[in-house]
Order: sequence, then C-alpha cells, then structure tokens
Amino acid sequence: MQPLNKPADDDLDFSSLPPGPFATVAEMHMSRTPSPAREGDAERRAQGLYAAAVRAYETAPAGTCTFVCISDTHCKRTCHHLASTTFGSRLGRAECPTRTVSADGELTLPPGDVLLHAGDFCTHGTLAELESFAAWWHSQTAFCQRLLVPGNHDCALDAQYERETTEEKEELASSERLHGCGVHHHALSLLHRPYIGSFLLFDSGVTTTVAGFTVWGSPWQPAFWGAFNLPRGPQLAAKWAAIPGDTHVVVTHTPPEGQGDYVPRSRARPHVGCEALARELLHRVQPAVSVFGHVHEAAGVSVARCGSGRTTVFVNAASCDTHYDAVNPPIVFQLRRSAEGEAVVRVVGTDE
Ligand code: 5GP
Ligand code: MN
Ligand code: MN
Repeated sequence: MQPLNKPADDDLDFSSLPPGPFATVAEMHMSRTPSPAREGDAERRAQGLYAAAVRAYETAPAGTCTFVCISDTHCKRTCHHLASTTFGSRLGRAECPTRTVSADGELTLPPGDVLLHAGDFCTHGTLAELESFAAWWHSQTAFCQRLLVPGNHDCALDAQYERETTEEKEELASSERLHGCGVHHHALSLLHRPYIGSFLLFDSGVTTTVAGFTVWGSPWQPAFWGAFNLPRGPQLAAKWAAIPGDTHVVVTHTPPEGQGDYVPRSRARPHVGCEALARELLHRVQPAVSVFGHVHEAAGVSVARCGSGRTTVFVNAASCDTHYDAVNPPIVFQLRRSAEGEAVVRVVGTDE
C-alpha cells in the first residue's frame, strides 16, 4: 500500500542548502543488499543469513552482545523469504534450536540478546496499527531487551503531529475517548515498558544488560512527510548534540547523510540523510554502530572511517522495499570488547 500524501520528489526544495561535506570525509564501502533476480536467490540468501546468525549467537564468546536489527516493517509481519512454513524443516531443528519461526507468517527473527527497531512500524500511524504492532513486539520474549525509536509513519507517538484527513481526525478523537489518558500517552505506554525489557528511545539511552554497551535512540528526521519532522539546520543539530559521547550504538530513523541514504529518483538531493547527524557521528560521537532505516532502497551495511581514524559501521535495517513489501531479512551484529576495552563489531554474513 502506498501510504498517504507524500511530497512528490521534486516538491522538496533543497537547492538553498550547501552540499554535505561528508562524502569526502567518509570512506564508504557500500555493500547494499542486492535485489536478487529470482525469489529463490533471495530466499536462499535470507535463510543463509539466518543460519549464520544462529551459529554466531550459539558460538559467541562471553562478553558478546548480539543485536538483531529491523526497521520499516510498515505493519508487515512477514519477511517473505523467512516466513515459509517449510523453513524449519529445511534448516533442521538441531541446526536452529533457538529459532523463532512461526508457521503463521510472523516476521521471523534470528536469536539475539537485543532486538532493535529503527522506526516505521506503522503505515498510517493510527492507534489501531500501533496496538497491533505492540502485541507482536511484546511477544518477542526471546530477546532480553527490545529497543525502538519511532519513525515518520508512527504518528500516534508524536504529540505535535497534525492529522490530515477527516477520517484520521475522527479516529484520533474516538481513540482519545476510548483511552481517556490521551492518544499520545497511551501510545507511549503501549511500547515503553521497561519492566518487560521494552524501551522506547526518545532522545534517551539505555545500557544493555548483556555486556553493558550503551545505546542511544532518537526519532527525528529532516522534514519529508509525517511525524517527527524537523527542518534541516539548528533544530536537528540540537537533537544530535544530546547524544552522549560514550555511546556504542546510535539508533535513529533517518540515516546520516552519505550512509545508506541514496534515493536515485530524488534528483535535487539524492543523499537524503541528515548532514548534521553525519557530522555529529563522524566527528564527535564515533559510535561503533549507527542503526537506522527510512530509506528503503538503501538497506544494507556500510563502513566509514571517523575523524580520529576509528571506524563506524552503518546499518540501514529497512525490512520493506520501496513497494512496502517486507523482503529484507534482519541484519545481525555483535559487539564485544577488545583487550584495550574498545568495542569491536562483527556483522553477521553468509560468507564467514
Ligand atoms: P517512508 O515513507 O517509509 O518514510 O520512506 C519511504 C521512501 O521515501 C524511502 O525509501 C525513500 O525512497 C523516500 N524518502 C525518504 N526520505 C526522503 C527524502 O527526504 N526525500 C525524498 N525525495 N525521498 C525520501
Ligand atoms: Mn519506511
Ligand atoms: Mn520513514
């Protein structure tokens, strides 16, 4: 389903903005998720990644935290290539003892310690969509922590968001009556439930219970469509300035400019990510990993060298493609500490 009234590509005027300076700073080695010619290839790849993730989790040395990343699920419960009911028998139980495969088409997740969602769980952002997502999210009890930031489609979570259509306004008013406490607060309380390990990161952070890594999350993005939009410039820069310098994993909905943010059809500005976020990540925070989504066509992993020579891994975890079909399998990475105490990242792939 194509959601709502998004601006046409050329409606957005980016011409007055200076070009982002980071293309030259970042040493980019994109290895985007390929779009396989045949479904069979995609299914084999997704299942190969799943098996690799199971092996990585089962064999991880002590002090390793395994993160399973998804984003832009847009009400979908199925990663096409992992939801096949024959999946379990193909992999074999012995090979896959902790699998969370279900026969009824639920989004299939490999095992891990932390489940990360980088936003756009909804399509229209109604409370009904959010409630349905929350039910699935809270059923993922194999993860001891589940962390998420909202995206621009998760409108019920944005107190400032103005509904566009009469239908939307009526839905909002009736849910307001239903829940008494106000849609926004109800929406927040649906997902932010620390006592069961679910943290909605809203310019806030949490430390992983496994191995004690720090994670910071924020929903804001350069103005495009929907909720949590801010103009490019000082307002966004102020949000990123709040990210603590000792953060290991930064989760945002928007990509930083130059990493997993390429939209070829956006002719005026094809790298649609946030330049202020790129600056903050590459020059100050220098996290081990930056996780985001939003730009569906750029799902995959890239690596950049930061100002000081440290390396940051960028994960665009978008599950849906540009047709809003959930085709991309989750991206899994592991963090552990080196002898010097530095966070070391390993992204799980099939070729290890
Ligand atoms: P979503 O609607 O799920 O937030 O974003 C979906 C798609 O909108 C992305 O895959 C990308 O093609 C496009 N998109 C996202 N942000 C921008 C932007 O800032 N400018 C343009 N032109 N397209 C964007
Ligand atoms: Mn999206
Ligand atoms: Mn989005």
